[in-house]
Amino acid sequence: KNIVSVEKIEKYYGNKGNITKAIDNISFKVDEGEFLGIMGPSGSGKTTLLNCISTIDNVTTGKIIINNKDITALKAKAIEEFRRDELGFIFQDFNLLDTLTAYENIALALTIQNREIPEIDEMIKNVARKLDITELLSKFPFQLSGGQQQRVACARALVTEPSLILADEPTGALDSKSSRLLLESLEKLNKEFHSTILMVTHDSFTASYAHRILFIKDGRIFNELIRGNDTRKE
Ligand code: ADP
Ligand code: ADP
Repeated sequence: KNIVSVEKIEKYYGNKGNITKAIDNISFKVDEGEFLGIMGPSGSGKTTLLNCISTIDNVTTGKIIINNKDITALKAKAIEEFRRDELGFIFQDFNLLDTLTAYENIALALTIQNREIPEIDEMIKNVARKLDITELLSKFPFQLSGGQQQRVACARALVTEPSLILADEPTGALDSKSSRLLLESLEKLNKEFHSTILMVTHDSFTASYAHRILFIKDGRIFNELIRGNDTRKE
């Protein structure tokens, strides 16, 4: 089943006389359960692409279909619900709230979905077990290492059972050991819980954990790599 279909999108910034073409005719699909990497150097259009997929930014032309919805045509309220219910975000700098414990940070995503407290509690305990962070739940972000904070952020992204997890340079602020642990967590979410992950990075070690990597440069896809040991079939 196809979760994402990006169809001939372009994105221009600026206006007459000073136009940057950040995305130049990009098309690709992501299947349910896929772990897709998008790799490219700084300025290649990764952030712009991710912002268009996450409805933070608008495409100039083209369509993006996610879960059978054309998200480029959604109204403001529908966009808000789409983001809340169907997307999970993992950021480079974790984006945990300092004044909340790990538990409360994860709970927030569920509270804004108007869920009941016992259900929230059960969902958090489940996700914590999956990511092996049960013993971290009562801690505040400042009491956690970068790698631990990012695993909490993964739990927050996963707990709402989104159709798609978007990760933007998830290892960008981590040392190599923490990076490896985090990427193993992402791999586990993908393998064991069939989460669909779209990860953007400029780092080839990080990208190597994806099953398929699209290479972008100057706003275009110029190559594709499908990992040899991947048992998935098209
Ligand atoms: P990456 O994430 O791969 O570093 P970006 O998507 O941030 O690439 O940028 C792609 C191109 O678009 C670059 O040339 C960048 O300078 C330009 N760009 C990105 N955002 C804006 C913006 N808000 N206004 C003008 N130009 C932008
Ligand atoms: P990344 O670290 O993902 O490569 P960038 O450093 O390229 O991201 O961009 C960070 C933010 O600045 C993004 O939101 C992007 O849209 C914006 N940006 C990038 N280039 C420009 C630009 N030339 N003018 C205005 N905003 C820009």
